[in-house]
Amino acid sequence: MGVFDPIIELSKGLGETLRSFLFEKTVTYQYPEEKRPVRPRFRGRHVLKRYENGLEKCIGCSLCAAACPADAIFVESSENTDEKRFSPGERYASTYEINMLRCIYCGFCEDACPTEAIVLGDNYELSFTDRRQAIYPKEMLLEAVPTVEMTTPRKVEPGVFKRSVPEMHDPRD
Ligand code: SF4
Ligand code: SF4
Repeated sequence: MGVFDPIIELSKGLGETLRSFLFEKTVTYQYPEEKRPVRPRFRGRHVLKRYENGLEKCIGCSLCAAACPADAIFVESSENTDEKRFSPGERYASTYEINMLRCIYCGFCEDACPTEAIVLGDNYELSFTDRRQAIYPKEMLLEAVPTVEMTTPRKVEPGVFKRSVPEMHDPRD
């Protein structure tokens, strides 16, 4: 190495800094007021989805818990009735919890779900100050109801919501 080589390398580095300062657009986001858009396949905090009629998509089958490699999901199911209906079909998730400290955001739960109830959304704002707070219960995960009348549980017409899994119009979907 020549005696001037470090100076040349330093000049190149400073030149690069000057070039980006003068000609490149700033990429600083004023978080939290301004949030960076996530990539289309980003996997963030889970959301438990509802149908358009407000019923919960989750039927408490526990397939997501079985598929989870981190053992992060806990599900307990109970029976639906037409007087007190949460989801279509026989059962709903009476308890649904995800331990966000265990989760590795692999998306296996999403793939395993037969009703597309659990979805990894675009929320990356996860923070807690103790381990208990990292366990997100169903109330935190469940999507808001479209209108107040569509809340769950609710009374529905008898015999209408018999199928747990929606009929597929095109099996290739
Ligand atoms: S994203 Fe992966 S690790 Fe996290 S709850 Fe789902 S299956 Fe488990
Ligand atoms: S989220 Fe899906 S896979 Fe998990 S219990 Fe509910 S319906 Fe079953």
